[in-house]
Amino acid sequence: MDRFTVLSSAKRIVIKVGSAVLTDEAGLNYRIIEELSAQIARLVKEGREIALVSSGAVAAGRGKLPQHAQSKTVQEKQALAAVGQGRLMHAYEEAFDRFGITVAQVLLTRDGIIARNRYLNAKNTLLTLLDWNILPIINENDTVATEELQFTDNDALSVIMLNLVEAELFVCLSDTDGLYNKDPREYPDAALVAEVTKVDEAIMSMAGQGAGRAGRGGMRSKLRSAQMTTSCGLPMLLAGGRTPDILTRIFKGEKLGTFFHADKKRTFYGKKPWIAFALNPEKSLILDAGAVNAVTQKNKSLLAVGIKAVLGEFEAQTCVSLRDENGTEVAIGITNYPSDELKKIIGCKSSDICELLGYDGRKEVIHRDDMAVWPK
Ligand code: GLU
Repeated sequence: MDRFTVLSSAKRIVIKVGSAVLTDEAGLNYRIIEELSAQIARLVKEGREIALVSSGAVAAGRGKLPQHAQSKTVQEKQALAAVGQGRLMHAYEEAFDRFGITVAQVLLTRDGIIARNRYLNAKNTLLTLLDWNILPIINENDTVATEELQFTDNDALSVIMLNLVEAELFVCLSDTDGLYNKDPREYPDAALVAEVTKVDEAIMSMAGQGAGRAGRGGMRSKLRSAQMTTSCGLPMLLAGGRTPDILTRIFKGEKLGTFFHADKKRTFYGKKPWIAFALNPEKSLILDAGAVNAVTQKNKSLLAVGIKAVLGEFEAQTCVSLRDENGTEVAIGITNYPSDELKKIIGCKSSDICELLGYDGRKEVIHRDDMAVWPK
């Protein structure tokens, strides 16, 4: 679908606003919050359903507590978020009240959705809010999220949200106007890329290395999210959150920002988005080149014969990382076997499993439906 058709027809949309858009040195920028809220309200009145992912809790906390503004440790940032999140929601509540729109605060943690039933529970709650015409405003529950269990940032959290609310479009509002062919902070002749058909290495290389001004993300993280969004078969628009009337203008058809086309070949469907974006494997399997090819190119299940090593100890039904012989993660998936049994069967044919383990186990170590293969 072309950009115009996507923007005019998308009904359910996830909009993400970054900290650098919403906050200044002094904390929350209430004018921006009011302006964006007015534009979102207009979209809602048109009959669109919006889920808003909003950063800004930590930055709002810094603004309120200038004496702690330089704080950097995880605990300090968690404390700042605890101060800022309430202020952020209060600002949204006041802004949306003017339009008769009720908002709901949804704070997620990664460990809150690792269990499939809790992921589905979050999904049902969000769908109920949308059904009631309430605007969910989502952020990470920074105060309790430990570093290992954090979502990488709110760009990554937004991809989970797209799947949870079954959205048709992701609009990411950032402090840059879109993707530039080189880092505009370094090169004044950098040009805006209006459309991207595939987020490949050439596109990824256009992002500079730096993080964002105020939040955790940066252009690399935006592009990673674009890659994941498009692999879910969904389009994304990256645009400048501080451009006047940005939402109204892009939905009216003005060609601002960078439009990422949905991949025609959907990589993540069914329960794969949950595996890909909610699970966070700690243990790994090393695959030989044949198995890497079968899993990544041919959409095949992982068999014992292609596994070269089992790293770490784990139970059956654990999510593990699948790595090539250089250690690069090519996929993640849920294993049917615990590590001690796997160690007895790796490198062997599936027909030998019964004899080696003493029972007739599954032929697939990881079934392809239980696997998420990373796009390249
Ligand atoms: N959850 C963080 C906050 O509200 C932002 C994370 C990010 O920058 O993506 O401050």
